[in-house]
Amino acid sequence: MSEILVLVEHVDGEVKKVTLELLTLARSLGTPAAVWAGPGYGEAARARLAEYGAQKVYVAADQEIVDYVVAPKAELLAKLVAEKSPAAVLVASTAEGKEIAGRLAIKTDSGVITDAVGLGEGFVADQSIFGGGVNVKSRVVKGTPIVTVRPNATPPEPAPGDAAEEQVTVELSEAARAARIVERVKQEKDARPELTEAAIVVSGGRGVGSAENFAIIEKLADSLGAAVGASRAATDAGWYPHQFQVGQTGKTVSPQLYIAAGISGAIQHRAGMQTAKTIVAINKDPEAPIFELADFGVVGDLHQVVPQLIEEIEKR
Ligand code: FAD
Repeated sequence: MSEILVLVEHVDGEVKKVTLELLTLARSLGTPAAVWAGPGYGEAARARLAEYGAQKVYVAADQEIVDYVVAPKAELLAKLVAEKSPAAVLVASTAEGKEIAGRLAIKTDSGVITDAVGLGEGFVADQSIFGGGVNVKSRVVKGTPIVTVRPNATPPEPAPGDAAEEQVTVELSEAARAARIVERVKQEKDARPELTEAAIVVSGGRGVGSAENFAIIEKLADSLGAAVGASRAATDAGWYPHQFQVGQTGKTVSPQLYIAAGISGAIQHRAGMQTAKTIVAINKDPEAPIFELADFGVVGDLHQVVPQLIEEIEKR
């Protein structure tokens, strides 16, 4: 079976969950081959990639690859596409991943599909478009299929692979050195899971009422081991930081469970969360559009409903 290249997302040498998902998906379609860009590759990373079925690991450990913005990773993948003729390339649907995929598509004269929520035989991708109003199936018909897949689209399942290492060197072009990263500022480590990767997300909207009131949204999130999200109304009001905004102009999440508290369900909000597996809405207005989308709904004041929910969860 042909190789399917999976670009590894890693932080401090640790493989991110989305890569395990992509390896699981790649296994259902061919032979997964992980691509490690930058320093940090070690035995722990190798073991993790092997555990989730990587048969090969192409390692380009050069510091230069991460010294510049995005372009070197696209050049690395383009080189591997030219040399290994993979059946497809899978990249996580993050802001960086989508930029890499776009650049790679140009370099390899291939088609690219972004934000897939599923990928089946013949690399037919499922996408949810127009703010979630339409589901489409699409397939790349030119070159090597390049697909960015949303985090949480596939549950990661272990299945051992060889993870045979092959070192790769890439001669960066002048263009790839056009934008150098001059400083990296580490964000304070939040004890909660990363919003786009979390299996459960609890989001608050205008109905929460104030920045202080977001404490109950956080408390509910913590009782479930969830990430916290917010609608744009809440972030614009300064009640919660913008980096946690879910929606068209915020983050896209695809968790197993999404709880929307005091959120009306505007199309721009739906665009960022409507592929969640199960949606629970808490809203005092029974006519709120979020109920059209929700699997479970509670009509009530969130300031009464959420504390009761927390109490119930904490009992278990
Ligand atoms: P509202 O629409 O005001 O809804 C508040 C809800 O809370 C209501 O349904 C109300 O019944 C309920 N409520 C009030 N009090 C309580 C209570 N005590 N208990 C329970 N329920 C209560 N929005 C996003 O979220 N993300 C985006 O990325 C985004 N991008 C946008 C991009 C563009 C170009 C535009 C034009 C808009 C965008 N928006 C985005 C804004 C979007 O259109 C909505 O205005 C926004 O989502 C509304 O947020 P909300 O649901 O919190 O507030």
